[in-house]
Order: sequence, then C-alpha cells, then structure tokens
Amino acid sequence: MKYVSTRGRAPVLEFDEVLLAGLARDGGLYVPETWPQFSATEIRGFSGLGYAEIAFRIMRPFVGRAIPEAELRSIVEEAYAGFGHKAVAPLKQLDGNTWLMELFHGPTLAFKDYALQVVGRLFDYVLTKRSERVTIVGATSGDTGSAAIEACRDRERIEIFILHPKDRVSEVQRRQMTTVDAPNVHNIAVEGSFDDCQDLVKAMFNDTAFREEMALSAVNSINWARILVQTVYYFVAAVALGAPERRIAFAVPTGNFGNVYAGYAARQMGLPVAQLVVGSNRNDILTRFLESGVMETAPVEPTLSPSMDIQVSSNFERLLFDVFGRDGAAVAAALEGFRASGRLDLGAARGAEALAIFDGARLDDDGTLAEIARLQRETGELVDPHSAVGIAAARAKALDLAVPVVALATAHPAKFPDAVERACGHRPALPARLADLYQRAERCTVLPYDLAAVQGEIREVRAAEGVA
Ligand SMILES: *Cc1c(COP(=O)(O)O)cnc(C)c1O
Repeated sequence: MKYVSTRGRAPVLEFDEVLLAGLARDGGLYVPETWPQFSATEIRGFSGLGYAEIAFRIMRPFVGRAIPEAELRSIVEEAYAGFGHKAVAPLKQLDGNTWLMELFHGPTLAFKDYALQVVGRLFDYVLTKRSERVTIVGATSGDTGSAAIEACRDRERIEIFILHPKDRVSEVQRRQMTTVDAPNVHNIAVEGSFDDCQDLVKAMFNDTAFREEMALSAVNSINWARILVQTVYYFVAAVALGAPERRIAFAVPTGNFGNVYAGYAARQMGLPVAQLVVGSNRNDILTRFLESGVMETAPVEPTLSPSMDIQVSSNFERLLFDVFGRDGAAVAAALEGFRASGRLDLGAARGAEALAIFDGARLDDDGTLAEIARLQRETGELVDPHSAVGIAAARAKALDLAVPVVALATAHPAKFPDAVERACGHRPALPARLADLYQRAERCTVLPYDLAAVQGEIREVRAAEGVA
C-alpha cells in the first residue's frame, strides 16, 4: 500500500513511513494512492463482530506488509480493551431518525482516544522494529494533549512533552495531563498563551539540529494513521443501522476536519454514506465555504466548544486534493494563494463530485446551550457542547427522512461541566474510573515563554533518562 502527498512533490511512502513522517516533505498531507474497496459482502460480514475485529479488518489493507497481521490484531485489541463501555462506541436513538454515537468511552473522555490509543501502539511497534526512539512534542489548549499523553504513556520507544498555557486550561483538562504517572510523560506549563506554546513547538521543529538530535515527532491530527483509525466507527455505526443495504448520513462537530474527513474516506472505501453534515460553532469558516465555494479566514473567537475554535482546518487539504482531481500542483497553488490573501475561491471546481455529499450548519453559544437543554428535556441525554453542535446540525440539514442520521458525540459531558450546568442546571459526574481525578498528585514543570528554556528542559530530561 502506497501513500502520496497532496502537493505531489514528496516521496511516495509505505504505511510505516507515513506513520512516522506526519507531514510530507513538500508540506502536504499523505493520502492513499488508491482506496482499498470493501465489497457489500465484506461490509455485511462486519455485522455482529466486535469493534476491535472490525478495526483490524479495515486497517489491514492500508497497513499492508508494514505490520504482520497477528501483531496488528493484538495492537488493536489491546488499544480498546480498557475502554469504559463494552460496545466501545455505543449507539443511542434520539428520535425516529436521529442516532447518537458515543465516542467518549476512552481514557480521556473524547473521541481522539479512538485513534490515538491505536496510533501510540503503532508508533511503538514500528520504532521497536527499527531500533529507533522518538521525542514527541506538542502544544495543547486542552483535549489533544491528554489524549496524546494517554496514548504514549509507558511506551518504551517514546518520550512525550506536552506544552500547555499555564492557568489557561480547565482544571479537568490540566489534571488529565498532569496526574498521569508514567516516567516518559512530561508536562510543561508555559507562562504564556496557547499560541505561544504552538510557536515554541514550531520553533523546535524548525531548529534542524535540535530536531535531529532529539528525533522530534508529532501525533497531531494531520497524521494519516489517525484518519484511518477514525473510519472504523463510521463502518460500525452504518452496519448497525442497516448498511450496506441502507444508506446512512452523519453529522460531525468539526474543527480540524479530521473526523469528518474519515467519514469521507469510509465512503471512498465503499460504505454507502449518503451525506456528511459539518457542524460549526461561531468559527464557521467551513460552513461558509460549503455554502459559497469561497474560503475566507476570520479571527478566531472563543466559544463553549473550544476544540472547534479553529481558523484553518488542516485536514481540509486532503479533500481539496480530490476536489482538484488529485492534482498536487493545483492544491499547492491554491493553498499558496490562500496563505497570501486569506481567500480561496473554488470557482468551477465548486461542482466537484468530492463536495457533493457535504453540508454545513452553524450554531452559536446560545443555540448550543438551548440544544443541550432541549436534549435533556426531550430525551434525558446529557451532551457536551461539541456534541450539541453536531446534533443540531443533523436536525437542521438532514435531507431524507428515509436515511438515518448519526450524530457523533465527541466528548463526555463531564469534560465541560460548566457549560452543561449553565444549560440545564445539572453538573454531570465524571465516570467512576476518573472519580478520584481531583485527589491524584500532579506533575508539571513551569517554564517561561522562552525557546532556550524549553529546549534545555527537554535535553536534560532525555539525558537523565539515558536516551539522548
Ligand atoms: C478535536 C475535537 C473536535 C474536532 O475534531 P476535528 O477532527 O478536529 O474536526 C470536536 N469535538 C471534540 C470534543 C474534540 O476534542
């Protein structure tokens, strides 16, 4: 199985190389050279299988010879063994036509666990085979950091350093990172903003000598393996609701476009996906784009659904590659123009087949609170603000009453207790396995917003671990 860059000028790679590379050398993102096809018979055969077995069958052709089947199967089984619900991603019916798929039963209560729990193990396997080690660095404004830490903790071949802005993440989010008791996990609280943290990470990657000395790597949302693993729950939901005989629609609260792009990927692989509805909060660049064919940046505003407070969705480039007929040069030119002017007009490409199944809907904070309250009143379900945006998008845009719509619940309501309490006066409790989060000891190093200080800390820790 080969992968090509969306900008057409990077080497063609195998799965294990794409996994470790993250971003392509030409600045593009990796996508499969061709999409493996799952026949109706194969999809029907998923019915009644466990989540991990379906994940294994879907990943197998994409992984190819990079990982032997027995190892791949045990990686996937182990990844989901600790999830808090036997079904891993249970489906609940909300009304006659709308379903909720709960993607918050992993260790950090957000959907990112579903991919990262597998990806951390894939990294360890590939690095062991190559006798290599990596230092993963990342910046987080909340959710991503804890999911990455849980994915990498206790992995022999990985040291992980996560930078968060000191006193600017919620207490639940901070504790989910700083209470992880594993020797290879290092939290750095930076005296600065999230943007400062991101700047520091970028500067470290741009420092070639440091990057090579520390073997820097990332597990961010542009990594192809994360997209691949996320396609699994689209298959699981669709088969449970009657695929391949029946077509299924999905509504997805969207930030970096990784999750909803996985739904598009599932369709390219043969799943009968009828429609993909992108849910936006006030930062609605994608919804505006889907309405007009023009992508135009605007300042990011903080909302109740912070994981969707994003200006430019990095994974959108993967869809753009298909919109432009898989012409890497056209993608590179369009994005260069976009970077220079803040505007990208699709023009004639607006009618591209790749865009036909997408719709968008936006919801502001008042609408989000009203939707949380309505759901609690009408269905008894407590949902988090991100999930509420997705459910409202499903209701606003579902095209065909004969097609079931699955809204993806991307976080547990207890991750955003303040918003949920504001909406319905009820403070959601953490699941039992996290109930002692507020009693656990925290570990964290506070550093100034200063590149040399952060690099010095990383060097020192690696030297002390004897791995530098
Ligand atoms: C990351 C995240 C999203 C956005 O997902 P993308 O793949 O970036 O579009 C939505 N909801 C929650 C809770 C998240 O953590």
